[in-house]
Amino acid sequence: MKPINEFSRISFGVYPTPLYRLNQISEKYGKNIWIKRDDLCGVALGGNKVRKLEFLLADARNQGADTVFTTGGAQSNHAMLTAACAARLGMKCYLLLKKRGITDYKGNLILDDIYGAEVRFIDTDSYDDIYREMHRIGEDLEKEGHKCYYIPCGGSNALGSVGYANAVKELSEQIRDVTTDEGEKLKIDAVVSATGSGGTTAGLLLGTRMYLPEAKLFGIAVDTDPFEEIVPEIACQGAALMETSLEELDCGEHLPDHFEMFHHWGAGYAIPGAQDTPYIHELARMEGILLDPVYTGKAWAGFLEKLKEGYFDSFENIVFVHTGGAAALFAMRLPEK
Ligand SMILES: *Cc1c(COP(=O)(O)O)cnc(C)c1O
Repeated sequence: MKPINEFSRISFGVYPTPLYRLNQISEKYGKNIWIKRDDLCGVALGGNKVRKLEFLLADARNQGADTVFTTGGAQSNHAMLTAACAARLGMKCYLLLKKRGITDYKGNLILDDIYGAEVRFIDTDSYDDIYREMHRIGEDLEKEGHKCYYIPCGGSNALGSVGYANAVKELSEQIRDVTTDEGEKLKIDAVVSATGSGGTTAGLLLGTRMYLPEAKLFGIAVDTDPFEEIVPEIACQGAALMETSLEELDCGEHLPDHFEMFHHWGAGYAIPGAQDTPYIHELARMEGILLDPVYTGKAWAGFLEKLKEGYFDSFENIVFVHTGGAAALFAMRLPEK
């Protein structure tokens, strides 16, 4: 296996991100619920895309790129964080965003502008159309002598997923210093996170198998894509980069023992759900933590609903990975019943 520290990586964030027990929430729900604060990773308003970009933009730099392209929804956290990280490398950043949802000058679109990104809206429902347009613009720029690097939606490819395998390595080292109230070593047996394009969950799957083998991974889908297939697919490619395989990581026929998807997309991707608002309020009012209505609010609400239904009865210490997204709170209202 190729150790992660042999991959080129640019450290944009401040690590390790905090890990702590949510005391009031744990009391209320009768479980030890911990939070891994990747929303506090130190770039812009934080978020999971930074860990992926550390590997993706290192690759871009190694290839001599001076221009980076990516895509997402109009309020994409990934696009905003790509603009922030590219700026730090002095790279020009083009964001080709779907002309869907909230395209007003709000939330992440304000930040994209502050970070100096070139934003273009593309009026399409298909990312294939966007990738075609990206390469058309890129080819023109290359004729002028620029070198372009293309990052897929969400940074969710094999190399991006290595960022989240690395996050679990960090988590496994971090819990060595944590003792529970009973004075015992903390043993994490479940990890829960939002799934939007799949790369984070894929990386968490690789990482838990490699560094936290006693933990089962749960992805909460906030979009309707078939993540039961997409996540193992990206993980398989990520494993290949790390010179291993899903079989070697016990994710062949035993995959269901280690990984499960739940869904909680509500009315659809990026449509805030009134049923999630009480959970968003609760975490803010009991623990001071902000969730967003597109990703973390849905994942958190979906997780607690499953917990109430008994799906987590056999787990003691559960880590919720906070993947960021707060800028959406400044672009849309939380709906109430
Ligand atoms: C992109 C994103 C996710 C989902 O991560 P994927 O790797 O796309 O599945 C979760 N939370 C937030 C805040 C995000 O921006």
